[in-house]
Order: sequence, then structure tokens, then C-alpha cells
Amino acid sequence: MSRIQKTEAIVLSKLNYSDTSKIAHFYTKDFGKISGILKGGRTKNSKIGAMVDPLNILEIVFYQKENRDIQIVTNAELIAFHPLIKENFEKLKFSYAIIELVNFLTIESEVNLRLFSGIKKILQNMNSTDENPALNYLRFFVFLMHESGFELQLNLCSECDNEIKSFDVNGFNYEKGILCPNCSQDHLISLKLSRELFDLLICLKSGKKILSYDEMLIKSAIKFSENYLQHHHHEYKGSQSLKLE
Ligand SMILES: [Zn+2]
Repeated sequence: MSRIQKTEAIVLSKLNYSDTSKIAHFYTKDFGKISGILKGGRTKNSKIGAMVDPLNILEIVFYQKENRDIQIVTNAELIAFHPLIKENFEKLKFSYAIIELVNFLTIESEVNLRLFSGIKKILQNMNSTDENPALNYLRFFVFLMHESGFELQLNLCSECDNEIKSFDVNGFNYEKGILCPNCSQDHLISLKLSRELFDLLICLKSGKKILSYDEMLIKSAIKFSENYLQHHHHEYKGSQSLKLE
């Protein structure tokens, strides 16, 4: 049995399928991530084919069949298309990196309303403010790791459970996690966590506004987060969107 469903959806990706159709991934409000086919979506005058474009937010109508991997999308209405992202290369690159990460870390049909509004909010922010795009991406990265069970723990030493203090020089081991100065001496550490990097990550985790920042620090925080994720999710190969220069 199939049912007609309507939901808000963020377009994550789109690719050609056969001579006339397209297949897209959506992160939806009510059904989590789904794949949908747009029949006739490749033809020139297809309204739906043009509207279903990565980063757009739509209201889609689809035929839902429980045991089918790909749903049939029959209609779409545009809610937001983020024009200011699309005309700015830096914003575009980091926004693509956001949806790429969502596509990678989410599981089909798992509903998460907080994640859905988090993606909407970050894209809106990317579009309408001049906040640093890399910082926006980093903030979202930290949030998404939390939402998908890969949260970075920074409060307690992973070895002795002592409280971690920002003013100490703490170590980090990608397998174990953060290590206090004492434990850093007897264990292999992947890197020394600078106080600036530690403070930035704590700020992002607690959702505080960051008033001043340093480009290099943001870059190293992104690299650090990617390495961390790679160690915990072996299929993760780093962001492909950020390799576009
Ligand atoms: Zn320790």
C-alpha cells in the first residue's frame, strides 16, 4: 500500500538517473533522510527538476511505500533557496560541506527534529549574515557530532577522570580522547591541545557566541574535528566539498 505524504525537506544531493529522471536525497522534517525519484526531472521544462537543488528547502509531496528504498516525489513547493549563499563561493563551499556531512552521518528514515531545525538555522545564518562561513561550518560540525553519537568529550581526562583545566597543556589521543598533563606524560598523544583550540571547542559545544576569532585557529579546529571523526567512523574521508578550491 502506498500513501501520499507531505513534508518539509532540505535537498542534500541530486543526480541524474536514466535519460529523463533524477534521484535526490532529502533530509525531511517528518521522515528523516529519504531518497526520492523525480520522474521527468531531467527534461528542460521540469519545474520540479529545477526546484530540487542542493541547499534548497522545499515542501515535497511523495508516494510513500514502506518497503521501497526510493520514494516517488510528485510535487514540490519552494520555501527557501538561499540566494546569497549561491553567489558567494566561500559560503557555497562551506554550505555544501554541511549538507555533505548530514548526508554522510544520518541514517535513512531516522527522524530528528532538532537536527532538522539545526540544518535550517545554519543555512539561514549562512545566507543572511556575514558571520565567517568556516566558523559556521565548524559550529555545525560540533553540533552534528553530538547529534549522531560522536560527541567530543572535553570535561574529564579519559584516563584518570580528573577535571580538565583550560590553562593546562592537555594532550589529545584520537583513540582515547583528552588527557590531563599527568596522563599525557605516560601515554602516546596525537597532539598537544592548545589552550586557544580547547577554549574554542568548549565555546562551540556550549553554543556560546564567538566574538573574535583567528582564521588559522578555525582551520586547525576543522582539521582536528575531521581527524577525530575519521578515527571514530572509519568510512569518513574528510569533506570533499572543502577540497574544491
Ligand atoms: Zn589524567
